[in-house]
Amino acid sequence: MNGRENDLTAIDDAVERALDWLSVVPTREVPSRLTPEEVIASLGDLSERGRPAPEVIDSLDEAVRPGLMASGSGRFFGWVMGATLPVAIGADWLVTAWDQNAGMRDSTPGVVGVEETAARWLLDLLGLPEDSAVGFTTGATMANFTGLAAARGAVLSRLGWDVETQGLIGAPPVRVLVGEERHGSIDLALRYLGLGRAETVRVDDQGRIDVADLASRLAEPSETRGGTIVCLQAGNIHSGAFDDFAGAVEAAHRHGAWVHVDGAFGLWAAVVPDLADLTAGLAGADSWATDAHKTLNTPYDCGISVVADAKAALAATSSHASYLLTSSRVDPHELVPEMSRRARGVPVWAALAYLGRDGVRNLVAGLVEAARGIADGISAIPGTTVLNDVVYTQVSATFGDRTGEVFGRIIEDGTIMPSASVWHGQPVIRFSVSSWRTGTEEVAQTVRAVRTAAEGADVLSPVS
Ligand SMILES: *Cc1c(COP(=O)(O)O)cnc(C)c1O
Repeated sequence: MNGRENDLTAIDDAVERALDWLSVVPTREVPSRLTPEEVIASLGDLSERGRPAPEVIDSLDEAVRPGLMASGSGRFFGWVMGATLPVAIGADWLVTAWDQNAGMRDSTPGVVGVEETAARWLLDLLGLPEDSAVGFTTGATMANFTGLAAARGAVLSRLGWDVETQGLIGAPPVRVLVGEERHGSIDLALRYLGLGRAETVRVDDQGRIDVADLASRLAEPSETRGGTIVCLQAGNIHSGAFDDFAGAVEAAHRHGAWVHVDGAFGLWAAVVPDLADLTAGLAGADSWATDAHKTLNTPYDCGISVVADAKAALAATSSHASYLLTSSRVDPHELVPEMSRRARGVPVWAALAYLGRDGVRNLVAGLVEAARGIADGISAIPGTTVLNDVVYTQVSATFGDRTGEVFGRIIEDGTIMPSASVWHGQPVIRFSVSSWRTGTEEVAQTVRAVRTAAEGADVLSPVS
């Protein structure tokens, strides 16, 4: 192993290449032009003898670069992703260099202190109950899993059943009610938890749960009395719509149900006073899931799970729950499914410290403003219809039977990258504004790119 300290030069090399990538992201065309197979072919087979560390870094960057999506660009609107603030990248690099196992307080008081500070700031910022358990997960899928695991344990425990020791076989039934347009990660989390397929509740034209239908479903006499979990949504991926939390939480709690909210990108609306109508009643739920790697613009990967009843959270994910219920010391791994874990909360802390309350508010408000700008701009293009009420960061548009063709031209041009999707049975082009880099100039470029594609003119010249 002698000589490997010299490998530290590979880190300089990586930093230089990373900075170079970050300098081209704002102007580069957005889509990747390589397939994974082409990258695999260029990487070849494992050699007998290794190679010098800097050479490995160089060849990695060269092989991968053309196959990268410029998802940090202000002209990237695909899926729901989000860019990364430079300060969060810097903090994330420190996390890597420190190489701490952030699972336990004793193993790394430093990063645990930072993560617990980030957790406290988040609860305050998002207006959630201050005694809640906060876990930093890989993403909203696992944050949904964590909240729903607490929910499963709590509703069964009220019926005298300890799912953590008795399992699900022979347990009283658990009924889960979800809106027809919940995100697929809710179904995944329920599968992982052995709860199978949820019952769907009607939604309105924007994808919001129908509170009257929910209330009548909750009131149905169930032959075998069991526990009930209701999943609500803050931010529909197609419309950006928010469920009526005040009404739905009241109905659910009246029937003794636990309410979980998937707010992967929508929970952040709670920081903007102008959007208060969207999140009214949100804090009355029992658990919430969100992502930092989307709206907050921290690097992959980081989700956040919040459970108001900290004991229910610990009962679900702590490996020594009985000890913990009497202890005030909670180790970070007890709030998430993983044991050894990366200090994902550190870049969250850095983003919040850098932005301040005002900066987070402006970040989220800026995304909404850009989404409205895109919607207004493309609505004026003949043959284009924006299908959703643009209340948040999502815009879904149709170009009639030319939608697929228009999308193809947009991708070929490469100036912007929205998603092709299907909403209410209709093909749509969807814009999710999630990058701190999207400003008025990017909105204007986006509208121009869509107009050119919709008018079927020759493709634009690439941005650079
Ligand atoms: C992205 C998303 C998820 C899943 O989050 P991951 O971070 O990909 O695990 C869940 N719900 C909604 C509404 C989302 O947009």
